[in-house]
Amino acid sequence: MPVRPAAPAYDYIIIGAGSAGCVLANRLSEDPDVRVLLLEAGPRDWHPFIHMPAGLAKLVNRKGVNWNYDTAPEPQLDNRTLWWPRGKVLGGSSSINAMCYIRGVPGDYDDWAARGATGWHWDNVLPYFRRSEGNRRGADALHGGDGPLAVSDLRHVNPLSRVFIEAAQQAGFPHNDDFNGPQQAGVGLYQVTQKDGARCSAAVAYLRPARERPNLTVETGALVNRITFESGRASGVVYGARGRAFHQPAAREVLLCGGAINSPQLLMLSGIGPAEELRAHGIAVQVEAADVGGNLQDHLDICTLYHATQRLTYDRLSDARIAWGYYLRNRSGAGTSNIAEAGGFVRSRLAPDDRADIQLHFVPAMLDDHGRKRLAGDGYTLHACFLRPRSRGRIRLASARASDKARIEANYLSDADGFDLKMMVECARLSREILKQSAFAPYRGAPIYPAREDLSDCELEAFIRAKAESVYHPAGSCRMGEDAASVVDPQLRVRGVDGLRVIDASVMPVLPGGNTNAPVIMIAERAADLIRGCI
Ligand SMILES: Cc1cc2nc3c(=O)[nH]c(=O)nc-3n(C[C@H](O)[C@H](O)[C@H](O)COP(=O)(O)OP(=O)(O)OC[C@H]3O[C@@H](n4cnc5c(N)ncnc54)[C@H](O)[C@@H]3O)c2cc1C
Repeated sequence: MPVRPAAPAYDYIIIGAGSAGCVLANRLSEDPDVRVLLLEAGPRDWHPFIHMPAGLAKLVNRKGVNWNYDTAPEPQLDNRTLWWPRGKVLGGSSSINAMCYIRGVPGDYDDWAARGATGWHWDNVLPYFRRSEGNRRGADALHGGDGPLAVSDLRHVNPLSRVFIEAAQQAGFPHNDDFNGPQQAGVGLYQVTQKDGARCSAAVAYLRPARERPNLTVETGALVNRITFESGRASGVVYGARGRAFHQPAAREVLLCGGAINSPQLLMLSGIGPAEELRAHGIAVQVEAADVGGNLQDHLDICTLYHATQRLTYDRLSDARIAWGYYLRNRSGAGTSNIAEAGGFVRSRLAPDDRADIQLHFVPAMLDDHGRKRLAGDGYTLHACFLRPRSRGRIRLASARASDKARIEANYLSDADGFDLKMMVECARLSREILKQSAFAPYRGAPIYPAREDLSDCELEAFIRAKAESVYHPAGSCRMGEDAASVVDPQLRVRGVDGLRVIDASVMPVLPGGNTNAPVIMIAERAADLIRGCI
């Protein structure tokens, strides 16, 4: 396909309109003299199920807004391939996620700084969490009250979510009404990224208010195939849109915000990566960077499911036209639920420090295979994940074409001392402990997964290998650091070339202890200041 030069020139080209890309598009185009082009492979975020929070249950199977990745067969998980949904739409994964607003704890960012992310310790990042946050409870020393990202209390809570909180308290865990407050540990309801009962994705929060700016151009259905270089500097991008190929120059910088899978893929397709890997696919080496695609991390999660004896759950929500109609008229009711309404953070007996190391998400519905498999009847699910996994995976190329999915080798449970597996057993035991409490007695039916309540540790290990899944937080595959092997430096500049940064979940040196949307938005807020030279 011939490559056409596209006009006009832009100062910044942002690749990917996800959580990070939308923030950058807004912040950089605040200066009317700066011309910004935002390229997104997916469509506009027009679909009503994106905006109606409970629509996420319907989005799981919508191919048009999801990259629908599968990992390679996972050796420690019975060679299963695990499903990795990722948003392919304006807002990226923030348009399909579960809206839980969580930042992690100060020690997570102090860990980043200790691993070479100089300037990213808690005191550095807190102002950016606060700047992004529009918490409906108002501002305080830890929270922002007027930032673009609306953070709200749930408008509708399923009675079983409250039963879960009571049961967890019976099991000895304290109630916590703010997981982003002075203490993360405890159980309670999540605050959610919602505004007036609708999802507040990064596109809603950051892109919508900037869309009318004449210096911001947003192109959807635009798949970037590679970044181009001139004399060691990123000079632009080659992308396909509307059946044609374009070469678009960038006057100042190219900002890669493709997420933890696509960013390392695009670096490799552009000649930055492990030399052997590039040569194997016939790609000329621009910069040899062995760590591109490495250091991949994710939160592995195990679900415990029970049948419910009462018809209170959301199992029939996807058929419940009444709930949808009611939502559209009133912006309240079950349609505003993020489904994973309650949860918490627990410090296990194996925790090496004072941080919680297990996160819980309670779902008043039966979630088998991410909800893609419908089970008969009604039930409930408790997710538990280990927050600081030691296993590391990698992203590799399947071919030299951007249109082919990259190969994901998550390598779950592969750490040498088997600690991750031990922690997953802790997760399953903790779930069982909470779900057996008397608060659940009026609602508890037969166990589904695991099928028996008296499994030994050995049997729990087998259960985990057979059933554990991703809880959707891949990160770390373009690690930031001070060492020469890190992919980006602490200003998020790709080592070995000029004019190119990576800004998204892939730059995290290590996963924070919690969900990842707010941390990515913080990264992009701070990156905007780095680019503008304000810090
Ligand atoms: C189902 C699900 C549930 C989740 N639940 C929560 C939750 O409750 N709370 C929470 O905090 N986090 C949650 N997360 C995680 C969180 O949403 C992500 O970590 C975060 O959105 C990642 O942001 P990002 O900017 O790194 O990538 P993304 O938001 O995924 O953005 C990347 C964007 O780049 C685009 N792109 C990629 N390659 C190209 C290319 N070559 N050309 C053009 N465009 C390209 C993609 O289409 C996408 O729009 C969830 C994620 C999922 C998938």
